[in-house]
Amino acid sequence: MMSDNHRLPIIHLDLDAFFASVEQRDNPIHQGKPLIVGGISDGGRGNLQRGVVCAASYEARKYGIYAGMPIWEAHQKCPKGVFLPARLNKYIKESRKFFQICSDYTPLIEPLGLDELFLDISGCEALFGSSEIIAKKIKERVNQELGLKVSAGIAQNKLLAKIATNLGKPDGFFTLYPEDVPKILYPLPLSSLWGIGKKTEERLKKSGIYLIGQLAQIPEPVLENLLGKNGKRLKLLAQGLDNSSVTIPTSKKSISKETTFSANITERNILIKELLKLSQEVGYYARKEGYQGRTVTLKLRFHNFTTLNKSITLENPTHIDENIFKIALKLLDKIKIKKGGVRLLGIKLSNLTCSNQLIQLNLLNNKENKWVQLTYTLDRLREKYGFTAITRATLLEQEKIED
Ligand SMILES: [Mg+2]
Repeated sequence: MMSDNHRLPIIHLDLDAFFASVEQRDNPIHQGKPLIVGGISDGGRGNLQRGVVCAASYEARKYGIYAGMPIWEAHQKCPKGVFLPARLNKYIKESRKFFQICSDYTPLIEPLGLDELFLDISGCEALFGSSEIIAKKIKERVNQELGLKVSAGIAQNKLLAKIATNLGKPDGFFTLYPEDVPKILYPLPLSSLWGIGKKTEERLKKSGIYLIGQLAQIPEPVLENLLGKNGKRLKLLAQGLDNSSVTIPTSKKSISKETTFSANITERNILIKELLKLSQEVGYYARKEGYQGRTVTLKLRFHNFTTLNKSITLENPTHIDENIFKIALKLLDKIKIKKGGVRLLGIKLSNLTCSNQLIQLNLLNNKENKWVQLTYTLDRLREKYGFTAITRATLLEQEKIED
């Protein structure tokens, strides 16, 4: 199956009973015992009566104790359990070490809390081997270096990788191959689907739908009747289809460029040329800083200072000039240019995510690839000769961009 591995670039990792495992590791006397982390100390003898369970060791889970349960209830279920207050700072330190180990294999890491993350190893196989080899290596290192257990799921997308992890827990290692998706996914309860809310689940159950397989087979119109717009998305998820990418969290909100004209512009062609230039600038800085955005906003300020913002949100993020330009042009087409003309024109790319260029190249289809290659070639020239030296204004003239 090794040759198939390029189809399975996503690894999901989840530390087993994280907080509780850190406590058991640091206090070997608690190993093998039901241990519950959480609650607020009363300052006396560590009696924890208030608050909720933050984490329960696997031994405690056998008593029916789970995270979120009130501490008093956990006490009732397991009076002899070890109850400890949470040491959040300690857990944050351990979490950082865990993330550090993972980042030795790919920069594309999406955290889901302190103890869970996705890795996308596309393009890293040549260096470190298949996703299975990388996941095994990380498991080994987490065990040796941190003294903790981590479960791993490997699949073609995030949804399936997370399901795979849960199927193997604890200390799990599960590869979910595309051809096995119906066999493995369909018998699972709806709650196994990441992204299905409690309300939606209730509504589906009322209609007699309990399993993922049932949801996957409902005709789309029926589902849309039942759940509205969300129906289509959930049907795709139930079929194991998820095209969301592994996304590095980013603090940057948007990238924008604007031009104030020295004289107000009434001629649409001049605005289009300016849009091309602005798209190139926004795209260039997005690529340079490693961002992609899903929302393109066109900003127009008229002679009388009234300002118009119009935007379109794409399904997939982009940082390619041509894509940004096409959207901006589409937005401009919808706007009637006032007689007094335009004094300011701007483009903003927002809804940003960080992304690895290599992966982006892999994902793009052939038609788009031409633009991608051209874009990167232009970037290299710009690095050499400066931004203003290279624009695609001349290409614009040859290309017949109409209405
Ligand atoms: Mg966990």
